[in-house]
Amino acid sequence: MDKAGKIKEALKRLVKRRPDWGIHSEIHALAKDISEYCGEPKKFAMYLGVIKRIGKNRAYQIFSEIKQSKDIKSRAKIFMYLSKDKKTKMILPIEKGEDNPILRKKSTPIKNITEDILNLIKDMEETMLKLDGVGLAANQVGKNIRIFMVSPNLSEKWVFINPGITKISKKTELMEEGCLSLPNVFIKIKRAKSLKIKAIDETGKEFKLKAEDMLARVIQHEIDHLNGILITDKNSEISKS
Ligand SMILES: [Zn+2]
Repeated sequence: MDKAGKIKEALKRLVKRRPDWGIHSEIHALAKDISEYCGEPKKFAMYLGVIKRIGKNRAYQIFSEIKQSKDIKSRAKIFMYLSKDKKTKMILPIEKGEDNPILRKKSTPIKNITEDILNLIKDMEETMLKLDGVGLAANQVGKNIRIFMVSPNLSEKWVFINPGITKISKKTELMEEGCLSLPNVFIKIKRAKSLKIKAIDETGKEFKLKAEDMLARVIQHEIDHLNGILITDKNSEISKS
């Protein structure tokens, strides 16, 4: 066997003994790609640590989610957000009352999905879950920014950042509604039966959605919140229990 052949054989034996070598170099390459993509090549070691902790499959998944994000400045924050679960989720106090100035103010759009906003989203999810709400707007927990979330079913939560309705049906429906900010008030409100909406999700990705019936109603209710409108403003019959 010539020299090159011997080296090849020796390498084969080595790889046999250390089957994780291939994986190691893959994780290193992935950490390099992600840290560069997030604009933090100097923090390579930290990214490597995160990837080792969450596993390469999850890291690839998060990387592909970030690649779809339009929020370039927040890539690093979103990567960290998706790779860890915030330990202390809080149930936030709900702003209440028809004349509450926070509920009456028009909320402003979000420029960057900062770490504070990502933490707020986690806390809002926890709050909505614990209070059995089907929807929650950020100003209901004291922040006049354009975020709301809905819970279309028990296991899912959808986050809408800077939402805009792009189409709304002429067909309407009358149904009774309540609001976490106005306990014991239930009002029959006429709302559009279906709509189309676009928004950004918590990973910075833009999405479009067609909503009907209950989901369309909840979305209209939450967008009203972002514009300082409450169900008592709607011209319908009020029943207090
Ligand atoms: Zn409400």
